[in-house]
Amino acid sequence: MSITASQEQAALEAVPTRLLIAGEWRDAGGGETLTVEDPATGESLAEVADATPDDATAALDACCAVQAEWAAHPPRERGEILRRAWEKITERADELALVMTLEMGKPIAESKAEIAYAAEFFRWFAEEAVRIEGRFATAPNGQGRLITMRQPVGPCYAITPWNFPMAMGTRKIGPAVAAGCTMVIKPAQQTPLSMLALAQILEEAGLPAGVLNVLTSSSSSEVSKPIIGDPRLRKLTFTGSTEVGRKLVEQSAAGLLRTSMELGGNAPFLVFADADVDAAVEGAVIAKMRNMGEACTAANRFHVAERVQDEFAEKLAAKLRDMKVGRGTEDGVKVGPLIDGTQRDKVDELVRDALGKGAQAVVGGTARDGAGYFYEPTVLAGVKDDARLLKEEIFGPVAPVIGFDEEEAAIAAGNDTEYGLVAYVYTSDVKRAFRVIEGLETGMVGLNQGLVSNPAAPFGGVKASGFGREGGKEGIGEYLETKYVAMAT
Ligand code: NAP
Repeated sequence: MSITASQEQAALEAVPTRLLIAGEWRDAGGGETLTVEDPATGESLAEVADATPDDATAALDACCAVQAEWAAHPPRERGEILRRAWEKITERADELALVMTLEMGKPIAESKAEIAYAAEFFRWFAEEAVRIEGRFATAPNGQGRLITMRQPVGPCYAITPWNFPMAMGTRKIGPAVAAGCTMVIKPAQQTPLSMLALAQILEEAGLPAGVLNVLTSSSSSEVSKPIIGDPRLRKLTFTGSTEVGRKLVEQSAAGLLRTSMELGGNAPFLVFADADVDAAVEGAVIAKMRNMGEACTAANRFHVAERVQDEFAEKLAAKLRDMKVGRGTEDGVKVGPLIDGTQRDKVDELVRDALGKGAQAVVGGTARDGAGYFYEPTVLAGVKDDARLLKEEIFGPVAPVIGFDEEEAAIAAGNDTEYGLVAYVYTSDVKRAFRVIEGLETGMVGLNQGLVSNPAAPFGGVKASGFGREGGKEGIGEYLETKYVAMAT
């Protein structure tokens, strides 16, 4: 059943719209607000506080005021707060999913999937909070003992993107809370509502005032500078574009901050002739169309063995042709709008470039007229090597298919990018699978599956996709320092 306007209104009205600083919901210092839009209509959904640089300093002050106390808080209780938040998110999944769809555009079913994924980081890190361990060893010469302990890094600053408005937050907040770190978080200006709703849930779950502070702002650079430049800050964790990540690493150099950078991707999807082509097509639909292609893990280019290239392209086109495009709140919609006009125009520009260089559109290939930022699901065949979309992150529902002959050529093509986040490999030959996986320069590989994200696994990239890992056993380590004690005996 389609969602009604009054349900939309009720879900939006339940979300706080002010800044959360030191446990208080406050208006921005300048009294300004910023408008949150529905990308399916371009219409205004809500006004949220537009933080100033002074608000940013106040948020960091709040972190610093409670850092020592929070670090000493019993790990079991830190975990219990996360566990309660997991429960509350799960109970309220429907209304949270509606808010996410309204501000970000993805279909309701995908928002629900993100909410479940986002909440799972809290459950995972609730369990990790009580497993922060050190070591004890006898020094190799037998004289003295070597002891290590792990302590919270200290106040952290987190910046998140609009494409996964809640999960990109929980995979930073979860480990920070578990480790005993305080945090200021700044969501993307296009999707602040999901983060504000999440902060309210953490408050209800018992997170003490000041441990998590939320800044929403239309001037990300101005509000970030005073925090990043403050010697009290110990860590910057960022998810977003490589371009912005580079700037933030530069800014972090002065304070020698610990940094985690989850940046852009350009995932190759390799299909070998021995693969189950139907399974590869199923995986391709997930790897390409999840989040309308607006995912750092989105398959950006499909390198397919020449023998099965046409079959793969035709079957993929048939699947994409059947996907209903529309507002994410409508029944049966599988493809929502892109986030804004700039993103839609960039996708269209990349498609025009590929077509101009000789590619053919098997399906789609155009933006939709009218309100909202919709783009037709697109498969491009015969894409030439110099097409820009092979090198640039597409971030839209466009699948370029390119043939390869030998295994070595497939690996070389897969690695022919500055990025190194994830690759997908479809083959039924186990030996080939490992040869290819070992040859790929990425932080993650999907083997015969089109989805790698899992809170229990280390998510992250190499090369221009950044450094650091979120989730898994590794995730909490990003928020801990190791202290070594040399003990005389
Ligand atoms: P973006 O433009 O880099 O923005 C990301 C965040 O950084 C937003 O909160 C943005 O705020 C903020 N920001 C922008 N410029 C800043 C500056 N100079 N100083 C401080 N903060 C600044 O990226 P996006 O377009 O939102 O997200 C898409 C990108 O994220 C893609 O490249 C995608 O691959 C990447 N991503 C990576 C992962 C991963 O785990 N590797 C996951 C998801 C997305 P405003 O909203 O105010 O601009």
